[in-house]
Amino acid sequence: MIDMRKCIICGTSLSESIIKNKQRKCYNCCDQEHLNVLISPSNLDSIFCKKWSINLLTKYNKYLIDIGLKLSSRRRNIDMAKKIFIFAENDFLNPYEINLDWLQKKFEGGPKTLNNVKISLLCFLEEQGIVKLPDKNDAIMTGILKQIERCPKDFARLMEIYCNVRLDLRKRQISNNEVKPLKLITISCDLNIFIKLAKWIIQEHSEVSSWDLIQEEHIHEFLLTLNPTNRELVRKDLYVLFKMAKQKKIITYIPMINYPSRELPSVMEPLNINDQKRVAILIQKSIHLNPLGGFLSSLCFYHGLSTKQIQSINLSDIDIVAKKINIKDRPPVYLLTEDLISLENYSKMRTQMRNNTSI
Ligand SMILES: [Zn+2]
Repeated sequence: MIDMRKCIICGTSLSESIIKNKQRKCYNCCDQEHLNVLISPSNLDSIFCKKWSINLLTKYNKYLIDIGLKLSSRRRNIDMAKKIFIFAENDFLNPYEINLDWLQKKFEGGPKTLNNVKISLLCFLEEQGIVKLPDKNDAIMTGILKQIERCPKDFARLMEIYCNVRLDLRKRQISNNEVKPLKLITISCDLNIFIKLAKWIIQEHSEVSSWDLIQEEHIHEFLLTLNPTNRELVRKDLYVLFKMAKQKKIITYIPMINYPSRELPSVMEPLNINDQKRVAILIQKSIHLNPLGGFLSSLCFYHGLSTKQIQSINLSDIDIVAKKINIKDRPPVYLLTEDLISLENYSKMRTQMRNNTSI
């Protein structure tokens, strides 16, 4: 007796929905059957009128098998490619007339799932030498030229020189068959940060009108505007830039010291729960003994203020009646009872200190 719960072709158990629909084959076998019919010579002869389109679809199927695409996707891709090749037959005399623009238009307006078909079909056609896909590097190179164009005028010459020197290095590395030649995207990222510095200088220090006038303190100030995690990397890149600028006689001195990199982890680990408890106890203990230290620690530990935010607190920002400190660009800090006691103790100590010195 035939088991109604098993696929009549491969014998695997059928899902409930298939059984409910009174179907006798699993999805896989259905796909395979559909695909077999689709690429059978008699079917191909009936849907295509040119030999090259039949050839392409057959080869495309083999290509999909080779890249290991699963059956259901392969069926979908072949279905779609069939339609594309029927259009191609109508529009072109030979497959080599198929081009990227034409393909893009055929794919336009189609459902999103088409995108997967599009990628594999384009790769296949490129492998067959039929279409040429745009080189990713061409796009980056265009971007680099635009970056230099957008660089402030008095700073652009060095950017051009930097770019050319790095491109030459890349060329040499490629011709020497180096495993990891300098990437164009790296050159682009470097230029990006240098141009950011040039724009920042113009905005913050309008008296600095060229690379030659940049001082060490400008560099430090600029580095502080960056995210701490990439500050060190940018510092090194800037040193390389200034060294090159001096060699090329764009500047007369290098406005920064090449001190060795600090071996700090790029990201600080958060305190574990035991350390947090210890800090909380220390703050608690310091209310009377070291109220200033305790209060400053509390601003970091409990209220999450940065050093810069703490530095910019003025006396007028402290509102004792409302028990809060107004902080620029963020909600006010609402003081805890311990904070108020620390503040009170600190102000008492200050008064005492002042009295002592006046004696
Ligand atoms: Zn089956």
